[in-house]
Amino acid sequence: MIRIGLDIGGTGIQIGAVDESNQIIAQASIPTRTDIPFEDQVQQMVDCIHSLLDPQINPALTMENVASIGAGIPGIANEAGTVIDCTNLGWKYTPLRQEFQKRIDKPFFVDNDANVAALAESVAGISAGTSSSVFITLGTGIGSGIIINGKVWKGHHGIGGELGHMILKLDGEPCSCGNHGCVETYCSATAMIRMAREAVAKHPDSLILKLAEGNPKKINAKMVFDAVRQEDAVAKELFQRYVSYLSQAIAGVVNFLDPEVVILGGGVSKAGSLLLDAIRAEYPKYVLFNDQPLPQVEIASLSAEAGIIGAAMLS
Ligand SMILES: [Zn+2]
Repeated sequence: MIRIGLDIGGTGIQIGAVDESNQIIAQASIPTRTDIPFEDQVQQMVDCIHSLLDPQINPALTMENVASIGAGIPGIANEAGTVIDCTNLGWKYTPLRQEFQKRIDKPFFVDNDANVAALAESVAGISAGTSSSVFITLGTGIGSGIIINGKVWKGHHGIGGELGHMILKLDGEPCSCGNHGCVETYCSATAMIRMAREAVAKHPDSLILKLAEGNPKKINAKMVFDAVRQEDAVAKELFQRYVSYLSQAIAGVVNFLDPEVVILGGGVSKAGSLLLDAIRAEYPKYVLFNDQPLPQVEIASLSAEAGIIGAAMLS
């Protein structure tokens, strides 16, 4: 049997067929179209799935072989397969399963993209073989997914796993959600860039500003890490502050859930061992029972394909 996974993003939709050993055996993409009716966008996804199912390429690629279809979205969905809210696509209470099943009569599942990435890692990535893990994406925002007993835990009402909006600092930085001081406002790539701009305004001699060709607007997270590697004092101070914030967020997860593994993904995680070593050294300081064995912190091992594989694994 094969499973179909759809990774629905703000600009593109990646669609793949995944075999029983969690490998993508066929893949295609279509642009995300917010300018056409939702039903037409679903039809385009369905057309793309049909075009993938070509037994001449691989004999497994037939509709009879499709066990289920899953979709990851940058939003939230309920058990009925209705997208409750997906701002990027303008979907609100959108009956995605219902619309799909009018066209393809197969089990259809939809879940948040961070939950999907967490599931992919726990099936085919760095946390494969574990039964509990928490996945945190450090990107423009913060996404997180919780796996318990090998399944996504999204909460009783489908709105859980939002680590990014736990408050880290009372009366802190304003957050897109309307609150202040959320984890997202201190631990996202966006937060790192904001802190870097503030730092170079005070210390214009920092290497970070040189790497950004003197333009604070050009600063990105990679420049901060590059400056840390070159021992820039301003970057090192900023990095230590960032590590401290992220460590407190991770310790919160560990104190509350004690999973087997905590996985870091997203753009900031590309810093690799520089970030990982610092976090592993720092986060136990904030854990209550830190004289006990603690969860391993790891960097996600799947990249772009995690969205397809995880969506295909939904059940
Ligand atoms: Zn928030």
